[in-house]
Amino acid sequence: MRVGDVPVGSAHPIVVQSMTNTDTADADATAIQVAQLAHAGSELVRITVNNDEAAQAVPVIRDKLDRLGVGVPLIGDFHYNGHLLLTRYPAAAEALAKYRINPGNVGAKHRDTNFVQIIKVALHHDRPVRIGVNWGSLDQQLLTTMMDANAASPEPKDSREVMIEAMIESALRSARLAEETGMAHDRIILSAKVSGVQDLVEVYGRLADRCDYPLHLGLTEAGMGTRGIIGSSAALAILLQRGIGDTIRVSLTPEPGGDRSQEVQVAQQVLQSLGLRSFAPQVSACPGCGRTTSTFFQEMARDVSDYLRERMPAWRAERPGVEELKVAVMGCVVNGPGESKHADIGISLPGTFEEPVAPVFVDGAKTTTLRGDDIVPRFLEILEAYVAARYPTPGSAAAAAASDAAGLAQPGSVGQ
Ligand code: SF4
Repeated sequence: MRVGDVPVGSAHPIVVQSMTNTDTADADATAIQVAQLAHAGSELVRITVNNDEAAQAVPVIRDKLDRLGVGVPLIGDFHYNGHLLLTRYPAAAEALAKYRINPGNVGAKHRDTNFVQIIKVALHHDRPVRIGVNWGSLDQQLLTTMMDANAASPEPKDSREVMIEAMIESALRSARLAEETGMAHDRIILSAKVSGVQDLVEVYGRLADRCDYPLHLGLTEAGMGTRGIIGSSAALAILLQRGIGDTIRVSLTPEPGGDRSQEVQVAQQVLQSLGLRSFAPQVSACPGCGRTTSTFFQEMARDVSDYLRERMPAWRAERPGVEELKVAVMGCVVNGPGESKHADIGISLPGTFEEPVAPVFVDGAKTTTLRGDDIVPRFLEILEAYVAARYPTPGSAAAAAASDAAGLAQPGSVGQ
């Protein structure tokens, strides 16, 4: 399926998405944050659409983004009144590339009627939907029914087990209802988020066994700082390694005034660490130890990482393939040369009591030795030259020369 122009599911790359935390009714602030998230690498961005003002702002936000040249698809997040807003504001329905429906929050009395109304709007605008169950807002009617049935059974299961089954049932039941309303099977994405790592692994493992809908993964309410990053990484890694998951979001709580796009960087790093996608050059650096008593090594590792981050927006546009670059910055002779040889380009700094020289390795071979006070800028120059030569801009003379060289290297290509 496609969400906007982003393919999702089957063999397509796992998609990184994120969500804004601005007031959607503030079209300027929301458009700016969406653009920031997209710039950080979010391939889909979700915005909450919670009231009339927010729904009215949606087409304005889309227009602002288009004028900024930011084509990232917008997903609308609906709770309680989605059926009303999507019907009342067709321009919002049209500006959104997908609707996220929480089956636990579509209205208790007229749950199915409201859900069907959203599906009909999606059909009218030819939009896919995500049926997103969340254990914090699980369909209480369904949960109560399942709890009662469990209590009456001769061998009752524990409440965790019933909760997991209720989440799966809520997602699958809603997907059936969407299909009965006319939604194509391949226009539905499912998610079932919980905040515990083991619970998440259990829920998604069972969901993947019981359906073939694309799955959106995420540990909900992951929390702040390292707790949120590590919890999300652990949960996503287990599932992704099993081949479960088609889109991911890392739900971090930012520090007040913190950078919202951190959740995008973490999601990308999870996928890149697992070897599933490449987004940015990777810097291998040893942790340092008693052999690196000065802070020079740490500062250099940081400077090289910062340099790569700063250069990536331009490189991404001009130098395809650079996201696979591997750089090593190592602290001493123990592992420095070996690790540097395994990288595309690496430097091994002198440890305590070692001769104050820093050999540089390119494609596994030592090419030069740096010494003195300007090791960092000279290494960055070598790095920049390496990137220019290895990842030439398409259409440039360097790219043509590289292509000729590759052709000459093909067996039997000479003289043909
Ligand atoms: S490479 Fe050298 S400095 Fe780095 S952790 Fe190993 S022994 Fe310590």
